[in-house]
Amino acid sequence: MEERLQKVIAAAGVTSRRKAENLILQGQVTVNGEVIKTLGVKVSADDNIEVMGVPIKKERHHTFLLYKPRGVVSTVRDDKERKTVIDLVPEPYRLYPVGRLDYDTSGALLLTNDGELANLLMHPKGEVEKQYTAKVQGIILDNSAEVKQLRRGVLVDGKKTAPAKVRVVSNNHDHNTSVVSLIIHEGRYHQVKKMFQKIGHPVLKLSRERYAFLDLQSLMAGQYRELSKTEVAKLR
Ligand code: URA
Repeated sequence: MEERLQKVIAAAGVTSRRKAENLILQGQVTVNGEVIKTLGVKVSADDNIEVMGVPIKKERHHTFLLYKPRGVVSTVRDDKERKTVIDLVPEPYRLYPVGRLDYDTSGALLLTNDGELANLLMHPKGEVEKQYTAKVQGIILDNSAEVKQLRRGVLVDGKKTAPAKVRVVSNNHDHNTSVVSLIIHEGRYHQVKKMFQKIGHPVLKLSRERYAFLDLQSLMAGQYRELSKTEVAKLR
């Protein structure tokens, strides 16, 4: 099967499709030793592709769902030498997390060596639904002004958040805390914590219950499983 050169480069996890296009236009990409400078070229699995002189690796694609525990960073490497999500998925592929969960957040996180899929899922237009459960400080009542504010959108870093689905799960009057379920599509930096901060209820504990249609069923914190071909196809 033939595919567009920029798509194959992105799928190999080298860079995004857009950046691959720029590299092609800059004459940084060769196919079977020949410099390609236009964007229409299609390549097959037998073609030898080099980006800036480095052959791309045409690995088979693998995508894993990890139940990230708290106390683990979701980067490939950590300056402070803390445990990373890559340490938790000891597979012989160059895996990258799809987006991030904070150090102290647990829950569903995808790891993949399919650069194209990762770019697609992280693109704001991808609109992947993410469901979080937040334990927050204070008592929030369903249909209260705060909940309505969250549903409509609040100003976070100067930009209004998109409408969210919000449901108060429980209130604990003894501890003065509430548990709230929140479904959003965006994935801005510390978004959920900032949204609750904005309505005056700081997050005490956060977990992501679901990423797209993938929930944590049958996994325990720290465990992972590979997605089936059908599941990956459904994510696209
Ligand atoms: N929003 C946050 O604030 N933290 C996360 O880890 C995920 C979403």
